[in-house]
Amino acid sequence: MKLILATNNRNKVREIREILGGHFEEILSLSEAGIVHETVEDGTTFAENAMKKAKEIAEISGMAALADDSGISVDALGGAPGVYSARFAGEHGDDKKNTDLLLEKLAGESDRGAHYTAAVALVYPDGHAVTAEGYLFGRIADAPRGKGGFGYDPVFIPEGDARTLAEYTEEEKNAISHRARALAALLEKLGA
Ligand code: IMP
Repeated sequence: MKLILATNNRNKVREIREILGGHFEEILSLSEAGIVHETVEDGTTFAENAMKKAKEIAEISGMAALADDSGISVDALGGAPGVYSARFAGEHGDDKKNTDLLLEKLAGESDRGAHYTAAVALVYPDGHAVTAEGYLFGRIADAPRGKGGFGYDPVFIPEGDARTLAEYTEEEKNAISHRARALAALLEKLGA
């Protein structure tokens, strides 16, 4: 069976191919499948958004579709920015503004606990769905460090380490990331 990914993000496509490659005949990104579509991500949970994206692509393509949704939840902010991680500082995808705003909101705060969540949803053409989640726990640094990763990685320190995630190599990050863990959990549910 072919699998369509509800993304064109190269890193995500590569990571998903590595983990789920053995399970599908072919794994195509949205553009490789010739689909132009933007889902309105108006869910209140990561799982809802992932499910909505996967369902829409499965319906449009008539093939199995996989979508993910992810973000960071900060304890001292009651779980914010959560599903609004990408638009925390207003502009979609402005990593620098998002991390600056996060550090500003946590100024003088001693509770630095936070975690990343990734939800993945696999929807088959008949509407049957398999979902999974993965987490990465850690804390928010006092200042950004490192050049790797993306998003909040320069201010996120995984549990048991002193480095930020932006100071990890791509391989190191992929070995522990919330996304890798969600995909591994999904693979387990698929009976691998
Ligand atoms: P999306 O799931 O690709 O829509 O990502 C949502 C937002 O969550 C991103 O724009 C980032 O701000 C944040 N985020 C999700 N995963 C990561 C990660 O692995 N590192 C850093 N930021 C992340």
